[in-house]
This record gives sequence, C-alpha cells and structure tokens, in this order.
Amino acid sequence: MKKTVDLPKVSLADLSASEKDAVVAAMRVQKNAYAPYSNYHVGVAVVSITDQIYTGVNVENVHYKVGHAEEYALGDMAKHGERQFKILVCSAKNGGIPCMSCRQTMREFSGENLDAVTIIGVGEDVKKTQQVIKCTFADIIGVDSFGPADLGIDPSKF
Ligand SMILES: [Zn+2]
Repeated sequence: MKKTVDLPKVSLADLSASEKDAVVAAMRVQKNAYAPYSNYHVGVAVVSITDQIYTGVNVENVHYKVGHAEEYALGDMAKHGERQFKILVCSAKNGGIPCMSCRQTMREFSGENLDAVTIIGVGEDVKKTQQVIKCTFADIIGVDSFGPADLGIDPSKF
C-alpha cells in the first residue's frame, strides 16, 4: 500500500496561482480549528470549478464527535450552490492527506475524472522545506471507489 510519505512533493514556487491561493487560505483557517481534545488542527481550502475558494476547519466537542475540515469546506461549497471542486488543500501538522471518511465525502463532489482533481497536503514543516505534497485524487482514493454515479446520482442535479 502506498504511504503518505511516498506521495510526490513539489516546491511551493511551482504551484499555480489558484493552488497557491488555496494553500494560503488553508493555512490561514487552520489557526481557527477548534481541537482542544486532539490538539490536531486542520485547515482545508477547496477550489470549486468556478474558481471560488471555500474553507473549513475541524471542530471537536466534549463527546468526541468531530466534524472534519474537509467536510465543512465542502459543506460551505455546497451551501453556495456549487457541486464540484477541482483542488483541495489540507493543512495539518503531519502532511495533510484527508482521512478515508473525508475521501468519500470528497468523492461526492469530485466529478468522475479523479485524475483531474488536485490534492495538496501541507505539513507543519512547509515554512522550512517550501515543499508540499501534490497528487491527484485518483492517487489517494483507491481502486474502484464508490461514487454517486454508482447509484445513478449526478450531484449537479440536486
Ligand atoms: Zn477526515
């Protein structure tokens, strides 16, 4: 199985303008994560297919129900009537690759071409290394992922 450390890294300088904007947005909101129990702060920014940026952070509570940053960012996008993203940046101390539950949520709004969706992981060492993980959604979702089309659903119709 592929590991996060095996994913390709690129220099911040080599990111596109909208990728850089999303990295800045994810790092900015990460500071507002509410994670007093895990102390694991996550900031996410998604860029929709209309080039809007939506953000989210993880929010915990005393009974350990945790809303993940990816879910809140995609919920923010959906709230604004958008149903597809093309870039997702996750900023977290150990590199920022979304968990499996969030990958399923992402799959809902990724469209069917998973090679066309960019995932960027930003670790806490980014200021020192100037490097981030950059891969496609296809690289991290796994084989034969279950998506809305498997149930005849087109999210853009809802
Ligand atoms: Zn998650």
